[in-house]
Amino acid sequence: AIAVKNLVKKFGETTVLQNIDLEIPQGQVSCLIGPSGSGKSTLLRCMAFLEEATSGTITINGEILGFTENAKGLRERVAPAANRAIRAQIGMVFQQFNLWPHMTALGNVSEALKTVQKMSRKDAEERAMAQLVKVGLEARAGHYPSQLSGGQQQRVAIARALALKPKIMLFDEPTSSLDPELTGEVLNVMRDLAAEGMTMVVVSHEIGFAATVGQQIAFLDHGRIVFTGPPQEVFRKPRNARLEQFLDTYL
Ligand code: ATP
Ligand code: MG
Repeated sequence: AIAVKNLVKKFGETTVLQNIDLEIPQGQVSCLIGPSGSGKSTLLRCMAFLEEATSGTITINGEILGFTENAKGLRERVAPAANRAIRAQIGMVFQQFNLWPHMTALGNVSEALKTVQKMSRKDAEERAMAQLVKVGLEARAGHYPSQLSGGQQQRVAIARALALKPKIMLFDEPTSSLDPELTGEVLNVMRDLAAEGMTMVVVSHEIGFAATVGQQIAFLDHGRIVFTGPPQEVFRKPRNARLEQFLDTYL
């Protein structure tokens, strides 16, 4: 689970996230929607500690990520080793797949297992292969990214994140750079993952996916969460004018 409390993120003078409070329950899929520039990627990047929040706290499965904050708002950095262990619970998939072009699919998925987790080549490749099987790419293990479709590359990127055995997976517009006919294969992999009980936060304009797979939808606008609720509430009767306007452009 992730608990975001009173999170603020500024870039210089600009406040991009304003007092965000959000609970991501364990074993559920939470979808984050909102207009371009509303702060969705920044929020995910804070959750993955790719970005340091300006104030507020993020708790991952009961442990505070990055900075603790006392009652007076004084911040103290979490010890690096402890923080690394907390971060290791989070896997992230980006819009751009960011695969290493000079490595095969199997190489991409096994690399961090060898270099970061110090697994033997044999064990790393075995685990990597199991993940490629899971995303339906066992037959492509020896292919380089340039020999794979966008959908296949994104599935390799998902396998690479999963190989590190995260407890939570964050997806930032995982299908936005794909042709429409390749979107389905990636969403299906995500659907399977959700069915297995993976905790997921998904930023996506795939409203159909959000409605059918998401248990919680959070709507972000100008750096504020203006609505959270189950999909049936969001889609049946948007009460918020900004949410209504947003849905009009995507439904
Ligand atoms: P999109 O749907 O287009 O991906 P988003 O909701 O993900 O948008 P963010 O990328 O989080 O939005 O950006 C939120 C705001 O923060 C934007 O105004 C953006 O210009 C600004 N921003 C993001 N990253 C930085 C940065 N590194 N430095 C300065 N400003 C930034
Ligand atoms: Mg974004």
